[in-house]
Amino acid sequence: MATDLLKNIRTRIEKAGEIGKFPDWYITELLGFKRRWSTDFVLDITDKTTGKKKTETFKMVRVWHRKPNNRWPYGGGFRFHPDVTLSQMESHAIEMSLKDWVMGLSHGGSKGGIALNPDNYTDEDMLAITNKALEEAVEAGVIGPLIDRWAPDVGTNQIVMQRFQSRYAYEMAKAHIQEGNATVTGKPLDDGGMPGREEATGLGLHYAYETFRKELKGKLPKTPTVILQGFGNVGLFFAKIAQELDKKKIIVGVADKTGGVESGVYCEKGLDIEKLITYAKSNRTVQGFESEQPTATKATLEEMLFEKGADVFVPAALEEVVTTELAKKAKIKVLEEGANGPTLPEADPILEDRGIIVIPDIYANAGAVIVSFFEWAQDTGRHPFDTELKVPTSNSPEVLDIVYAELQGAFNRNGSRIIALQKRTMDGSKNVSYRLASYIYAMERVLSRFAAKRDKKLN
Ligand code: NAD
Repeated sequence: MATDLLKNIRTRIEKAGEIGKFPDWYITELLGFKRRWSTDFVLDITDKTTGKKKTETFKMVRVWHRKPNNRWPYGGGFRFHPDVTLSQMESHAIEMSLKDWVMGLSHGGSKGGIALNPDNYTDEDMLAITNKALEEAVEAGVIGPLIDRWAPDVGTNQIVMQRFQSRYAYEMAKAHIQEGNATVTGKPLDDGGMPGREEATGLGLHYAYETFRKELKGKLPKTPTVILQGFGNVGLFFAKIAQELDKKKIIVGVADKTGGVESGVYCEKGLDIEKLITYAKSNRTVQGFESEQPTATKATLEEMLFEKGADVFVPAALEEVVTTELAKKAKIKVLEEGANGPTLPEADPILEDRGIIVIPDIYANAGAVIVSFFEWAQDTGRHPFDTELKVPTSNSPEVLDIVYAELQGAFNRNGSRIIALQKRTMDGSKNVSYRLASYIYAMERVLSRFAAKRDKKLN
């Protein structure tokens, strides 16, 4: 990755600290970590190209940020991706805390993963890697329903989560401990998962857009065209919901990268998302889709953003996509951040000067964090600190409408408050960005709890 993600997020916290006039001790607290854990484990695996056995070392990391109350556990995604490093996970753990606090969830943020590309391993080896990773975490005491809860992220899914949970129960059973089902969230529905979890991030992006559109009257188009980067969990469900539920957005471009190959398709009148999903699922790429939809053409992300343009750009792949170049050249009105940390700090002022509205990641893509919290709360009986957010009473399929209503309520409430905070908080001559407003909002929500924990007086 091109820049220092941790430095980027720390810079934003410091800036939010100055503008929000938070005490120094609080910023110092938020810039540090409770725990950074890493291990190398070794497995004999099959080389997919030669079919021969070989011995390989896997680097696994997990980072816990901060929590203001010791009754709260940590929680956050677990990813399989070659770029996983301790420093990258540090920045994502902070983001997770901020997301939790924006939405009023009683958790501290954590994040982790293993540096690998799942495509390079056989199914048997992926199972062995998954089990070994969980065993290592149990041995180190860094996982548990009231310690640190894992959830899906880049390169992992429901099945991986189910395996983690099952292995955790197995490890606990050895010590005669009966484990519930709350150490891992994002599990399949028939194994303790929560209805709405899989699509929650994509759905939340729609609720976030609608909240901003209603609050910022006239600034965001009602029926926008959208260019989407990433057609995995977040991107695919965002597109599916755009077509089936939201019915207002027109997805004109989709860029993805599979097996290291970047590809993209564009259609001015809108892509046929149903067909694209079927195509992407069977071909594991969007490359070549133009043969299925004659009005669509092949296009790179840059061609779509710099030449064709659209009302909204939704990055839903990886971090550091919105560079200064992209910020300068993209023909867009709104940037809605589906991915975590997709925008470089240097790009922020350019977007602001160009009047591009940024709906920031720690708010926009927090949908799954809420539904994961519900899944965890089902088994632990715990509640969010936002008393307006109600945990559904069961995880049976009938609660889907309640999950959606709670999600929508959380996005409306917190989005409106972020926008109100942005309006009343002045940074010298200018208004602060929605990004900084969302940081300040998150930090304000837990300040008194941190102060109580540290025995600090607040003015
Ligand atoms: P995923 O692995 O399911 O999908 C990521 C997609 O992005 C894949 O289709 C991949 O091919 C594509 N991609 C990777 N590099 C690309 C590139 N350079 N250009 C174009 N496409 C590229 O992951 P996901 O769960 O959808 O997560 C995507 C992002 O959203 C990550 O930043 C993640 O942290 C964030 N996020 C995920 C969730 C969730 O619930 N899964 C929640 C909040 C935020």
